[in-house]
Amino acid sequence: MFVDYAKVTVKAGDGGDGIVSFRHEKFIDKGGPDGGDGGKGGDVVFVASTRENTLANFRYHKEVRGENGVAGSKRKKRGRSGSDKLIPVPVGTIIYDSNNNELADLSEEHQKAIIAEGGKGGFGNAHFISSRRQAPRIAEKGEPGQVMELRLELKMIADIGLVGLPNAGKSTLLSVISNAHPEIANYPFTTTRPNLGVVDIDKADSLLVADIPGLIEGASEGKGLGVEFLRHVERTRLLLHLVDALSETIVDDYHVIQNELSSYKVDLSTKPQIVVLNKIDALQPDEIKLKMKQLKKALPKGTELYCISASAKKDIKPLLYAAASMKQAIQAELDAQIDPADLLPKITLQETDDSWSVEKTGKGWLVQGAKIERFALRTDFDNFHATQRLRDIMKKMGITHELERKGIDVSDKIYIGSHGSLEY
Ligand code: GDP
Ligand code: MG
Repeated sequence: MFVDYAKVTVKAGDGGDGIVSFRHEKFIDKGGPDGGDGGKGGDVVFVASTRENTLANFRYHKEVRGENGVAGSKRKKRGRSGSDKLIPVPVGTIIYDSNNNELADLSEEHQKAIIAEGGKGGFGNAHFISSRRQAPRIAEKGEPGQVMELRLELKMIADIGLVGLPNAGKSTLLSVISNAHPEIANYPFTTTRPNLGVVDIDKADSLLVADIPGLIEGASEGKGLGVEFLRHVERTRLLLHLVDALSETIVDDYHVIQNELSSYKVDLSTKPQIVVLNKIDALQPDEIKLKMKQLKKALPKGTELYCISASAKKDIKPLLYAAASMKQAIQAELDAQIDPADLLPKITLQETDDSWSVEKTGKGWLVQGAKIERFALRTDFDNFHATQRLRDIMKKMGITHELERKGIDVSDKIYIGSHGSLEY
């Protein structure tokens, strides 16, 4: 089954909590703090793999989680980090967040992108020793892992797209040349679906050919079924443009499709093309000659032109060899253009933002800001020492000063985002 859109929620692992613990040793009567840090939560990482052909897996796995980090333990022992969750997706998968920002375009085998970052482990109390604080009773909670709702999009990357007016013989050609007919899910809003076929050229080379139905006049303006399928054509290397030899208007037919291709938002009419006059079994040799001549005149210089009969399986091999070698040449050219830097994964991580704001509300005071809220997330609000530390951080960041400037009163409540509250 071929699915080209999928939604999935990913949740990276939470960081493990730091712990409060003190050394107990036989001959040392007051041991120092030895609570270890929590381990980091596992990231959620997408990786492109040619072994995957579809996004169908995400129909059943709507949620993917990274492993949580383990809490710290005595003797300053750090908790084990959660292992990363690797999610293989087909090469060509594009990942968007819920605001439709493109996070990653996994267009090359093995390309990886960290999509959701695991939470940091909390510090154990061994971290909080200072000259003033010999026996710290605070430890941080682990930070929660990032949660993201994603939309995945896979543009089918067929090597070759079949285009042509309805009835030109695209489906027939595909059925004749390909030995594999993957089942394809229906597209939304359509009853038609693109057909995919694998064509074996020889042992080493095969072509993925897509029959793109519904490429009808007006498709690029959103009429008919065309636009969805044109999106797939966008990434194909080469087009086979079929022209029905039995038509009285072969040159016009050719131009109708060319106009269609050029009015799409990415001009597809300049994509490498082989033009194929089909159904020659139904014509006399001199008629074939004439039509080939007419067509040749209409084509841009250098365009390859073949004539075949799909249903009679006539002269198809030379066409396929030409297509295969053209595809290879195009691929080689593209490979040469690739800047290795482009292959590096795009990584999106939380940004650390120091800015904050303070606002008086009906309930008290609201403090907001990425950094202070991150600290709040890691704070155990039931622990006096932990809230004390949060107060210290607010003081250092200048937040306390601002609260005072705005007239905060003794025992007013201070809310840090929605993560908890403390009294002034
Ligand atoms: P599509 O709309 O481009 O997919 O066209 P189809 O493959 O469905 O073919 C349309 C019609 O043309 C069908 O009736 C086919 O049997 C016929 N057809 C396809 N190829 C040939 C051919 O090489 N010779 C002849 N005579 N008819 C063909
Ligand atoms: Mg068809």
